Amino acid sequence: MVYRGRFAPSPTGPLHAGSLVAALASWLDAQAHDGVWLVRIEDVDTPRCVPGADRLILEQLVACGLHSDEPVVWQSQRGTLYQAALDRLIASGQAYPCACSRKDIEAALQAQGLTRERHHAAVYPGTCRPERGGLRGRAARAWRLLVPAHSTVDWTDQQLGPQTQDVAAEVGDFVLKRADGLWAYQLAVVVDDADQGITHVVRGADLTDNTPRQILLQRALGLPTPAYRHTPLVLGANGEKLSKQNGALALDLAEPLAALNRAAAMLGLPPAAGGVADALAGWTRAWASTISAPPPAAPPASKP
Ligand code: GLU
Repeated sequence: MVYRGRFAPSPTGPLHAGSLVAALASWLDAQAHDGVWLVRIEDVDTPRCVPGADRLILEQLVACGLHSDEPVVWQSQRGTLYQAALDRLIASGQAYPCACSRKDIEAALQAQGLTRERHHAAVYPGTCRPERGGLRGRAARAWRLLVPAHSTVDWTDQQLGPQTQDVAAEVGDFVLKRADGLWAYQLAVVVDDADQGITHVVRGADLTDNTPRQILLQRALGLPTPAYRHTPLVLGANGEKLSKQNGALALDLAEPLAALNRAAAMLGLPPAAGGVADALAGWTRAWASTISAPPPAAPPASKP
């Protein structure tokens, strides 16, 4: 098997200490497997994109010695692929149009006596499901995946170990195309990972709970499921995930080795001095030795 990995930043700002960990880990994993490493700019959520951030991210990656092995792709140019996938889901009865606004969803949940926890997206109550009459004359706003009941997804994360999620109970019929006409991250990422032949996804642990939705979508589209590894998050002083909002500092292009050393430390790699290329080569050897290490020997069977 030819290993194909990727780093898929959203250009909502420059790379920061957290996104560099995901970039470095995905690059090292690809190198350690003699694989191919791609960069994909995930600019589907246009209102959140910052003009020029894509170019800056690509410059920062190059300054850190991380070069895409194939031409960089931009999701904003790949709408035809996403539409084709949605059309397949519609044709196979696995996607349906939804007329609900956020307010409608809140009201439907309240009517069922369900309150949603703060900061948690609501489980869609299924108002526009085909078996409940569909749009009933209302205008379609979004498209959703028809998530089968009891769709528990089990997978083994290469970093976090066995994981499980009942997508129907915990997420519900999730959005594939948004009410504002934009493609949802879940659909775009699944279509692109398959189209680019990605065999290994290495990314930040903040995305772990998206994985079961993506696996379900791969199954609905008949696409292969890559291996997943979710890397540790860099937390800000307030204990929250680093983001532009809580003051994540953009990486200093003049000091790529310092930034790489901080990212490497998060991955349990030793500090490196000298040049960026030597540091990357040393970390690649260290990473390769951890992934090729034989699994710990099973304890001897206890005597009865
Ligand atoms: N574009 C996503 C982000 O920047 C990452 C998507 C992924 O790696 O699957 O958070």
